[in-house]
Order: sequence, then C-alpha cells, then structure tokens
Amino acid sequence: MDIKYHFFVSIMLTIITFPFFGWFCLLVLIGGVLIDIDHYLWHIYNKRTLSVKKAYHFMKHKNHANRNMTLIFHNIEFWIAKVILVFFFPVLLPLFIGLASHMTMDLFIYFKNKHTHPNPIAYSLTKKYLLKSK
Ligand SMILES: [Zn+2]
Repeated sequence: MDIKYHFFVSIMLTIITFPFFGWFCLLVLIGGVLIDIDHYLWHIYNKRTLSVKKAYHFMKHKNHANRNMTLIFHNIEFWIAKVILVFFFPVLLPLFIGLASHMTMDLFIYFKNKHTHPNPIAYSLTKKYLLKSK
C-alpha cells in the first residue's frame, strides 16, 4: 500500500488517540508509517543502493509481492513480539495501535489485489527460513 494512505490514517488515529495517551499518541504515527521501512532495508541490502527514490519506484511495481522478499516487520513473529512488549510495557499501546492499523490496511490490500505485499498475517520468518518453505 502506498505510504501516503498509511500516513493519512495514522495521522487521523494520532489525533483521535491524543486525549487518551497525550503526546505518546505520536507512537501511533511512528508505528503506522515507519513499519514500512523494512521494504527500504530490503532494497538497500539486495540492490546495494541507498536511493530512497529507486526503492520507492521498485516497491510500487505491481509484481512486488512475487519477489522473494524478507520483510522483517511484516511477519507473525514480529506481531507476537509486539503483543508481548505491550503486555509488559503498556505505554507502548499507541505504537501497537499504529502497527495494527498498518497491518490491517496491508491485509485489506492483500486480499483485494494480492500483489503489493506478502500476506502480512500468514507470512512467517520461521516458516520461510527454519522450515525452508515460502
Ligand atoms: Zn506495510
């Protein structure tokens, strides 16, 4: 999903959650937008360039999900870690709200188009690397 949609929804959620979390509501924005930095990290590692512009155009391609990508923040293991972190550090709840909104939007687009991301819920690093399947 295009980052501008994540940014727009995250801004709305940040404003809505301000009365509940105060300035910690900015974590919603961080969680809702910055999770996609894993796409950029993948591009840096695999394409050996720091160009944000090239990475953006590369990720906009329709067959984006058909590439065998490892997105370190878009997987079930990261989700489990986030839930555990929020349990022990409730102050991180706004970050979790941002991440949840991001993953919900990614999932919606996945089921609509099936070409922008790997399935953000079923995608598992354990399955991919330890069990050696896709
Ligand atoms: Zn995403």
